[in-house]
This record gives sequence, structure tokens and C-alpha cells, in this order.
Amino acid sequence: MAAQLIDGTALSKRIRSDVAQRAAALTGRGVRPGLAVVLVGDDPASQVYVRNKVRACEEAGLYSVFEKYDADLSEAQLLARIEALNHDASIHGILVQMPLPRHIDAHKVIEAIATTKDVDGYSALSAGELMAGLPGFRPCTPYGCMKLIESTGIDLRGKHAVVIGRSNTVGKPMALLLLQAHATVTVCHSATTDLGLHTRQADVVVAAVGRRNTLRADMVKPGAIVIDVGINRNEEGKLCGDVDFPAVREVAAAITPVPGGVGPMTIAMLLVNTVEAAERSAAVTV
Ligand code: NAP
Repeated sequence: MAAQLIDGTALSKRIRSDVAQRAAALTGRGVRPGLAVVLVGDDPASQVYVRNKVRACEEAGLYSVFEKYDADLSEAQLLARIEALNHDASIHGILVQMPLPRHIDAHKVIEAIATTKDVDGYSALSAGELMAGLPGFRPCTPYGCMKLIESTGIDLRGKHAVVIGRSNTVGKPMALLLLQAHATVTVCHSATTDLGLHTRQADVVVAAVGRRNTLRADMVKPGAIVIDVGINRNEEGKLCGDVDFPAVREVAAAITPVPGGVGPMTIAMLLVNTVEAAERSAAVTV
């Protein structure tokens, strides 16, 4: 029997509608949640992501500022803009779209964002809070993956989860979130020998690689939950993930599609983090 589709579009709509209610309540108290989105350069994919994020903000009643700069913006100029946004009371979250041009040190930029406005959850402090199990901003993509997994009703305690990929923005925080939910976690990467040996034991697989057909049907345990983070294009130029979707769907119990799975959830969780940042700021100023 084909796996249940985990519908990220539908779940993200419910989350965004909850964000809209929280934003309206805050706005009624004189604090309209605000997100600043900063884009440097002309990367076409980044422009699409940024546009979607700004539109999602507007739909949820958040205030948003979009700042676009030419690719030759200096690092010092970008840091000065972030400093100004850090002090702007109408802005509760700051997102700098990655990747940045090569002459700008992304780490320096991420660390320049005020901790209270780090709604992408990429700073060293946010990463440390996640590792220590302290409250803080969780990186939006793995946070969204957790919501997708939770939506299946699975109790992760004692389950075996395998994460493929160990990037700071997806794989590593994903592994930590699963660990916090009491799963037993294996993290695989490009030096892993026999990937299938690990994934075949998994009750939950999260694929975050960026290479299509990384996870094939013979690598999946029947009844597993499969979350596909990857964004790739197939021979026909169509969007696809890291998972051989049609074949794995026949083995798994539940699976996310690409598009319509993790992507919309990443944006929804950005809005959640932004409204959360505004709620915290309102609690401080009240
Ligand atoms: P990344 O920084 O390039 O990391 C990719 C990871 O995959 C690395 O840890 C790498 O291992 C591992 N890897 C590469 N080849 C492998 C192989 N053959 N077997 C096992 N592991 C392998 O990418 P990322 O930023 O984490 O993103 C991963 C994918 O998710 C990309 O397609 C990206 O576009 C997509 N993405 C989607 C969303 C969304 O909202 N849907 C958000 C973020 C990212 P090493 O560490 O050893 O190099």
C-alpha cells in the first residue's frame, strides 16, 4: 500500500493561521511583529525564497522590510545595516539570505545579528541553546521537519532516527531535535560507508543531502517515516528531493513530497520564530 503523504502545504497553512492570530493579538497591544529580510546579490533561487518569505509575512499580518543590495556591497556596509536593524524597535527578526557573496564572511554576519532577533537560529548562541536543551530559536528547516514528523502521530521515544547530512543549518540541528524527542539518532554523511545499512534500521529517515535518489526503496525499512529535505532538479528540470519518491512511497508508511513537504514548513517556522521574538520583546517591554 502506498505511504500516507505528509502534506507540508496543509500543515504550514494551519501554522500560519495560528501565527496570524498571535500577530493580531500582539498588534492589538501595539507591537506588530516585524521581520527584516536582507538579500545581497542576484542569486535567482535566493530571490524566489526571499519573495516567498516576504509574501508569507504580509499574509500573516506581520510587518516586513526587504532590503536588497548589489553583490559588491562590502562586508562593513552589511554589518552596519545589521547593526541598524538590531536597534530598530519595529524589527523583531532579522534574516540574511544565504549564500552571501564570497567576499563577505557569513559567520561574521550571522554573529552580528542580535541574539533576540536571530529568527533563523544560525548563531553560535542559538546552536548552543539547542544543544543544551535551552529555549531559543530553532533553525527553521529542521524545526519544520519535527512538526511534519509529529503530524504523523509517531511517538519518537526509543525510535531509531537516521539523518543523512550534517550541515550546521539542517543535519546537525535535526539530529539534536530528534535526540531531544528521545529518539536514538544516527547521523550519516559523505564519508559514511554503506548508507543503506544505517537507513534500513531507521523508523524515521530525514534526507538532507542535495543529491537526488540518495535514498532508494531498498534502503528503507517497511513502515518507516521519510522526510525529504533535498531540493534538486531531475532530467526534465522538475523539482525533486533526495528520495526516489515513487519507489520509496511503496515501502514507507508516511513520506513528504517535494515540492509541498518541507519547503512550506521552513517558511511557516520562520514566521513562528518571528512572532515568538515579538512576544518575548513585548513581555520585556510591558
Ligand atoms: P549541505 O550543507 O551541502 O550539506 C549536505 C550534507 O550531505 C553534508 O553533510 C554532506 O556530507 C552530506 N552528503 C553529501 N553526499 C552524501 C552522500 N553521498 N551520502 C551521505 N551524505 C552525503 O546542504 P544543506 O544546506 O544541509 O541542504 C541539504 C539539501 O536540503 C539541499 O538540497 C538544500 O537545497 C535543501 N534544503 C531545503 C530546504 C527547504 O526548505 N526545503 C532548506 C534548507 C536546505 P559532508 O558533511 O561529509 O560533506
